[in-house]
Amino acid sequence: MPPAPDPVLIRELRATGAAVGVRASDRLAAAHDASHYLLVPQAVVTAHDAEELAATLRAARRAGATVTFRSGGTSLSGQAGTSGVLIDTRQHFRGITVQDDGALVRAQPGATVRAVNAHLLRYGRKLGPDPASEIACTIGGVVANNSSGMCCGTAANTYRTLDSAVLVLPSGTLIDTGAPDADERLHEAEPEIYAGLEQLRDRVRGNPESLRIIAQLYAIKNTMGYGVNSFVDYDRPVDILAHLAIGSEGTLAFVAEARFRTLPVSKHVATGLLIFPDLAAATTALPAIVDGGFAAIELMDATSLRVAQRDPAATPELLALAVENHAALLVEHQQRTAADLAERAAAAERLIATLPLALDAELTTDASTRSQLWSIRRGLYTTVQGNRRSGTTALLEDIAVPVERLFATCTELSRLFDAHGYEDSVIFGHAKDGNIHFMLNEQFDAAQSLERYQAFTEDMVRLVLSRGGTLKAEHGTGRIMAPFVHRQYGDELYAVMRELKALIDPDGLLNPGVLISDDPMAHVQNLKRVQTVEPEVDRCVECGYCEPVCPSRDLTLTPRQRIALRREIASAERAGDLPLLAELRRDYVYDGLQTCAVDGMCGTACPLLINTADLVRRLRGEQQPAALAAGWKFAARHWDGATCAASAALSLVHTVPPALPEAATVAARALLGKENVPRYSAGLPAGGRRRRASARAADVQADAVYFASCMGTMFGPAEPGSGGVSRALSELCARAGVTLTTPDDLPSLCCGTPWKSKGLHGGYEVMKRRVAASLRRASHGGELPVVCDGSSCTEGLQILLEAAGEEGIRVLDAVQFVDEVVLARLPAGEKVTSLTLHPTCSSTRMGLGGSLQRVAEAAATEVIVPDEWGCCGFAGDRGMLHPELTAAATASEVAAVAAAGSAVYASLNRTCELGMARATGKPYRHILEILADTLRASS
Ligand SMILES: Cc1cc2nc3c(=O)[nH]c(=O)nc-3n(C[C@H](O)[C@H](O)[C@H](O)COP(=O)(O)OP(=O)(O)OC[C@H]3O[C@@H](n4cnc5c(N)ncnc54)[C@H](O)[C@@H]3O)c2cc1C
Ligand code: SF4
Ligand code: SF4
Repeated sequence: MPPAPDPVLIRELRATGAAVGVRASDRLAAAHDASHYLLVPQAVVTAHDAEELAATLRAARRAGATVTFRSGGTSLSGQAGTSGVLIDTRQHFRGITVQDDGALVRAQPGATVRAVNAHLLRYGRKLGPDPASEIACTIGGVVANNSSGMCCGTAANTYRTLDSAVLVLPSGTLIDTGAPDADERLHEAEPEIYAGLEQLRDRVRGNPESLRIIAQLYAIKNTMGYGVNSFVDYDRPVDILAHLAIGSEGTLAFVAEARFRTLPVSKHVATGLLIFPDLAAATTALPAIVDGGFAAIELMDATSLRVAQRDPAATPELLALAVENHAALLVEHQQRTAADLAERAAAAERLIATLPLALDAELTTDASTRSQLWSIRRGLYTTVQGNRRSGTTALLEDIAVPVERLFATCTELSRLFDAHGYEDSVIFGHAKDGNIHFMLNEQFDAAQSLERYQAFTEDMVRLVLSRGGTLKAEHGTGRIMAPFVHRQYGDELYAVMRELKALIDPDGLLNPGVLISDDPMAHVQNLKRVQTVEPEVDRCVECGYCEPVCPSRDLTLTPRQRIALRREIASAERAGDLPLLAELRRDYVYDGLQTCAVDGMCGTACPLLINTADLVRRLRGEQQPAALAAGWKFAARHWDGATCAASAALSLVHTVPPALPEAATVAARALLGKENVPRYSAGLPAGGRRRRASARAADVQADAVYFASCMGTMFGPAEPGSGGVSRALSELCARAGVTLTTPDDLPSLCCGTPWKSKGLHGGYEVMKRRVAASLRRASHGGELPVVCDGSSCTEGLQILLEAAGEEGIRVLDAVQFVDEVVLARLPAGEKVTSLTLHPTCSSTRMGLGGSLQRVAEAAATEVIVPDEWGCCGFAGDRGMLHPELTAAATASEVAAVAAAGSAVYASLNRTCELGMARATGKPYRHILEILADTLRASS
């Protein structure tokens, strides 16, 4: 059991009005980030705004506790964890405002880099920092870590592109460094800090050795210690403060907002893989390649190439290579115009001809080859991590040396791997910046392993510092390198850093132990010990990539936290900590299982392709009562009757005042459990019509087999009497001269998702056998495609047929079918002016984005997919079992939908339409219904 939190602290925190999580599961779930450190916070606070955050700082100070900010939790160096108070700065801080036609962007700290870039894309602009973790890392983390990435180098990293920031200092003072009178206001509000910054600035500038070290270390990417180059690059204390906050890892101030100067997006791109006979040849060629002006130059050593050969995306050339000492540089030109790219590519061709390559190479603009090449490079992390021994912790190191010393450093590093017995430790990274990464897999619960790790670290520190390099180039100092800042900067600059911290945070309120530490062993304390638990979770590296796409992220848990808590449960079990075990298991039922939408969106974001829904489905299955399983198995055998009964029940409740059925379901849920009775609400439609098998069933002349979803029977259309998507698809096909047939037993079929998502294997097996046999008959053994009119059912059918070994039968979603077969044969309709579209999780997973967009564009002049789009979490019946899940999942999208104010609203799955209609108050319909309307209107 983690130590009980201090009651005085908790009382103080609660008085601020912020949400305060104190359960063991809240604290243990939040303890895990992407690093190899694990500290359990006393409390997890979710502040609603900057005022509440400032109040939390004051409350913690009064109670004598310390505070750490947590945003995306993708940091690798241990800077985002604490045993004090952890403040979530992501959930309520996601605002983004584009300014000056995209030249500037203001963002709150919880906005992800991907979300900010999505807003900027329509202006042809992007952020400078381009971390590989852009899907999940946030503006707060990017500023606090001075993040960079593959292309931005030192010219367009956070330090160089931040225009201004709104900072909350530990004292509670709020400074907008972009305000015209910001310097005066700092002077007025914080005279001591102002004077102290002036003194430190003059001290640094007056010390030639400090200037020499700064010039040397900031010529390369460098995130060790505080950014003392700010004292040289800026004159006004407020500008120095703004730039010191960059890379300060939450130890100096809270970044409440950041304003960035943006860069143009270069749409014209050419990429090539240059394979050299050895590392010496690759690094010798580097200066000429750097002079060639490439936007990206990524190094992969021989071990990387061997690992890359295991990647399914490996090119035939790479697969054919017998890797010995080879090394490769992945190079890319990015230009704004085709003419500029052609010029660069021609120069590159001349350069490549002079290089001593092991294989012929050329730059390609072909999108699929380019994505294959990048997949090889990006997949290195995944492939090495995916193959690591279960129970080991992954560590990603991040050093930089002057480019001319890269070869010697890499060679020596490889020797150190051998000497310390680290196998498969690939070296890769941003060669043009002399910045390389390497991975170590370590089992921290064995004393021998810890000693090995310490010995390796000591050798590595000595190596990098002797080459004039930095121990952290872009991931931040954190806990892992805090004890080595002194060695890297020497006495004087280290003293400046310590005085800076004491000046701004005299009480040591913010993130102690991070960035600078006098404890020489700080890097080997609080290490994460990974438990071997179960196949679904053991590969997880806790990177956090999956968190932003998860519909339950703001309600209960994220996928990473679901996995982390399974590890904590296993750990409590092994330790025999029965009270903790009982508590964690109890909380996991609602947090982990009931409020997971099992939509699998996590699997789309995870670099290791981990789909947490698989875990949740299995655990749900293990917990289902036998009577419920038997009931659902019976329903699988009598699905026609079951769907008609559900439809009749919905129609019946429409004839009585809504309060009655609402009250009845509330009472039944109280009696039988929330998980067993869907909640009726007034927004639900009446029941739909029973599906009918076509008179032409088994007609071999038809163009496709139509599998109408049973959702259309249970829930009637948004416009009563309109016939819904079923009639729309039939009309569209009739107009296009496309003939549909159906399975002969259609009314009794289902894609099986209701059973699968609840882990009801018996019922699923029954339905699987029936559907597989029926579709084999109807499609004439796969001759005809099967078309389904609800995206989640389309995906469910694909999965079911695959599980039944019927891979020869092609199942298409109705939107894809209309796009591919019907649309070109239709006359132009009278388009609606504007349409807001809600893609679904299943349409996203099936890659239907292009089809959906084209069909929507055929129906509307303007098509809007909100940047804030995400899975609605309705997930069949989950939105009715737990309406709070859909409410939480759609909160950001709802605001964007309201702001767009479109003429019509569409999706492509009946229950998602219900979820979105309930969340937004707008009438969502299937996109094919809207397309059919436009044709009716014009005929
Ligand atoms: C697989 C992988 C690849 C990566 N690739 C790159 C890469 O290419 N380039 C790169 O630079 N980094 C990379 N990183 C590291 C990491 O993603 C970045 O440093 C990222 O910017 C951290 O952002 P975050 O939102 O996750 O912040 P967190 O990890 O939550 O926090 C980072 C630090 O910022 C502080 N903090 C957070 N919010 C605030 C705030 N509002 N005010 C003040 N302090 C705050 C925290 O206390 C902490 O010290 C990678 C990480 C992973 C796991
Ligand atoms: S399946 Fe969906 S709700 Fe469940 S963890 Fe994954 S993304 Fe979250
Ligand atoms: S499930 Fe995948 S994306 Fe999520 S934390 Fe684990 S490894 Fe990362």
